Amino acid sequence: MRIDVLSIFPGYLAPLELSLPGKARAKGLLDLSVHDLRDWAVDKHRTVDDTPYGGGAGMVMKPEPWGAALDAVAPDGAVLVVPTPSGIPFSQEIAAELSTREHLVFACGRYEGIDQRVLDEAAGRLEVRELSLGDYVLNGGEVAALAIIEAVVRLIPGFMGNAASLDEESHADGLLEYPVYTKPSSWRGHDVPEALLSGDHGRIAAWRAEQSERRTAERRPDLRHPSTLVDGRELRLAE
Ligand code: SAM
Repeated sequence: MRIDVLSIFPGYLAPLELSLPGKARAKGLLDLSVHDLRDWAVDKHRTVDDTPYGGGAGMVMKPEPWGAALDAVAPDGAVLVVPTPSGIPFSQEIAAELSTREHLVFACGRYEGIDQRVLDEAAGRLEVRELSLGDYVLNGGEVAALAIIEAVVRLIPGFMGNAASLDEESHADGLLEYPVYTKPSSWRGHDVPEALLSGDHGRIAAWRAEQSERRTAERRPDLRHPSTLVDGRELRLAE
């Protein structure tokens, strides 16, 4: 997989050198470059923002540097991922889908966001995915890009040492994962549940399934009664 990230704060993406994405690069599974959007600004101040048409607070990212940058790093057919609080909620399902793609380009917005025409024009030759990390507002797209990249890269075939562990994780089957424990079996007066010490695989599986169901019902009942988006409109599925 190839990933290009465009940002006015390329230093923010330094963690991509570490941990799992760093390992994927070392294994040759990931080819990743971070670019400074200001390299495509045309004036001597390397300006990337301007006042919004229609007035209002804040600045908007200018289309010209973005257009030139995407022309340079995003070949036809690449997937352009645009983190934005007004995007579709990012999910494990979307991560799995993106992990099968050959080339992802991340456009990290700042200020009040990127001039809409950049995305409209890009949609003529790229697959544009506007994705939200959650219902809150960050200062820029970099943290969202880091989170999305980490979720995607760990699903690239051959990346995780033990691929089976992916199947049991939260969200893999629409449920949250059960609680996990390791040695010692008793710690500060808290004991590991007896079923896990039993050695009885059927009993262990049943205990874990029950715990997953209970956790999901308590913490994320919406996962059991999901909503869905059809033509951009949210529909509630019958309960
Ligand atoms: N004015 C925008 C709005 O209300 O939708 C918020 C802009 S925010 C201050 C600046 C940038 O941070 C956005 O362009 C986006 O790249 C990123 N960002 C903020 N919150 C985000 C979220 N929940 N998910 C993904 N990206 C986010």
